[in-house]
Amino acid sequence: MATATLTIDLDAIAANWRALDRMSAPGTQTGAVVKADAYGTGAGRISRALAQAGARRFFVAVAEEAAAVRGALGPGPQINVFSGHMAGDADMIRELDLTPMLNSIDQVTRHLEVLPGHSFGIQLDTGMNRLGMEMPEWQAVASLLLDAGPEIIMSHLACADEPDHPMNEAQLAEFHAMTDGCGVPRSLSATGGILLGERFHFDLTRPGIGLYAARPYDAGTPPLVLSLPVIQVREVAADEVVGYSATWRAEGPCFVATVAAGYADGIHRALSNNCALWAGNTPCPIIGRVSMDLITVDISHLDHMPDRLDLIGPHQSADDLADAAGTIGYEILTSLGNRYQRLYAGTGS
Ligand SMILES: *Cc1c(COP(=O)(O)O)cnc(C)c1O
Repeated sequence: MATATLTIDLDAIAANWRALDRMSAPGTQTGAVVKADAYGTGAGRISRALAQAGARRFFVAVAEEAAAVRGALGPGPQINVFSGHMAGDADMIRELDLTPMLNSIDQVTRHLEVLPGHSFGIQLDTGMNRLGMEMPEWQAVASLLLDAGPEIIMSHLACADEPDHPMNEAQLAEFHAMTDGCGVPRSLSATGGILLGERFHFDLTRPGIGLYAARPYDAGTPPLVLSLPVIQVREVAADEVVGYSATWRAEGPCFVATVAAGYADGIHRALSNNCALWAGNTPCPIIGRVSMDLITVDISHLDHMPDRLDLIGPHQSADDLADAAGTIGYEILTSLGNRYQRLYAGTGS
């Protein structure tokens, strides 16, 4: 079989969730963000493992993503939709029992007309200028919405991964100004906000990336191993070239392994000539261009022919790949390909 395997340790993810939960202020509930197929790791399996660990409120980006989560969780746990109540979503919201985070007066009107009495939350914009109602809109509908009994009022921090950024205090103050005394549970912080301290925690936190021990919470337990099968090994003579555009030339005779994964699997082309795969504890440099389905690797220094080489594992994290590719761990994880066979390890599997 020439498909790569992505092994996902559910115990590690549950342990990271518990660690973030312990960091939260007393009385603060810890939710879980499982949008984008749980950051590429499989929303159903991850949601179930987190529910076993104690999570009761889940968040997805769009209503369609909630089907896998509700299927895995069954009735009960709350599934919140960040994009709110879009036209055409009513059946899904009702049938999957979703809680849309209403973002605008349009959405408020739609929700109260189409699904009166159905649960909802409110998303406020406190300065990021991305999603949610700003102060004047909020003031216009606040009493109507508060009477209708929202589950939660939330906002999102733009710069929580930079603890000293003045936006953090500014958004915190705006959130207080917009919500103090409203009598509804409140949520402001994703992973970065949890690390900013208890003043940012309110009633519910929403960690996502931290569950994978990626920055800004890289103190956790890394849960992923991405292992690529070697399809072929060849001897390359001095002065021969490897890969598209002949960007790598052998200085002396060497052995080159070709592994089965490429940029179509989310392995950024920027890693060409710029990263390593690992044979156990030994790094093997990527040589030449990363192509769509294949990567070439120098294994001349190994004393054996490996069956597989690891791109993510104990020696190389998603953040390491992000640094080499000029991006962030979030993009590495959410790009993890559909061709990988996902294997689940741990008691939750
Ligand atoms: C993605 C997202 C989160 C989770 O953020 P992390 O940085 O991955 O913890 C929380 N809240 C909102 C609104 C989001 O869009």
